[in-house]
Amino acid sequence: YSSTRLDRFLAAHLQCSRKTIRAVLAAGRVVLDGELARDPDKVVGPFTRVELDGECLQGRRPLYLMLHKPVGVVCATEDEQHRTVLDLIRAHPEDLTASELDDLHIVGRLDLNTSGLVLLTNDGEWSRRLMSPEHKVAKVYEVRLANPLSPEYVTAFAEGMYFPYEDITTQPAQLEILGERQARVTLTEGKYHQIKRMFGRFRNPVVALHRHSVGEWKLNSSLQAGQWRRIFPAHN
Ligand code: URA
Repeated sequence: YSSTRLDRFLAAHLQCSRKTIRAVLAAGRVVLDGELARDPDKVVGPFTRVELDGECLQGRRPLYLMLHKPVGVVCATEDEQHRTVLDLIRAHPEDLTASELDDLHIVGRLDLNTSGLVLLTNDGEWSRRLMSPEHKVAKVYEVRLANPLSPEYVTAFAEGMYFPYEDITTQPAQLEILGERQARVTLTEGKYHQIKRMFGRFRNPVVALHRHSVGEWKLNSSLQAGQWRRIFPAHN
C-alpha cells in the first residue's frame, strides 16, 4: 500500500484503461473519503476510502498497537514452535477484524528471550520512519549482566564497535550503569542481536533484556506481559 494517483488506482483495481477511468470519473461515480472525486490526479493514500457507485474498493483504518512482549514469544506472525506476538493479539482482538489482524506488521523485532515494548501497525510510512537509520529514533533497553560492569563499557558503547561479519561500526550508543550488573542502553539502530553482541565483546553474557521504549512510546506500567493496547500517534 502506497500513495498513487486516482486514475492509476482505479485502472489497476478495475483492470481497465485510463480512458475508461476518465469517463467513470467524469460521470461522478467515484467518492474519496466521502467527497465526489472527478480529478484523475487526486492522490489516493493507503488509508483513503475509495467508493465506486457506492461500493467500497478500499477502506482501511490506520492501526497502531503497543504490546508488552513476554520472554518466550517470537516476533513473527506465524511460527511452528512458539507463540507469536500476533497470537497474543488474536487472543484478545478487541474490535480488530480478522483482515485487520492479517494486515499488521511488527515495527522492530525483539529476540525470543527479550521482553518489553513491541509496536505493530498497518501503516508502512509510520514504521519506516521509526526504523530508518536517518531518523535515529532512540530505543531504550534495560539489561542485566552475568558479570560486573566497569566504566570502560560506557566509552566502548559511545565510540561504537566494529563487527567484521557485517563490516559495520555501531552508531554511538549510550550506556548508563544502574547497578553492579545492571545497565540502561540506548540505541538508535537495531542490528542483529546487537546488545548481546556488544556485551559479548567484554565476555559478559546478557542474562535479561527488556525494551522500555521506542522513541516517544514507553511501555505503560499498567500493561502486563502479554497484554497490548491501541496507541494514537499525533499525526493521525
Ligand atoms: N539487542 C539484542 O541483542 N536483542 C534484542 O532483542 C534487542 C536488542
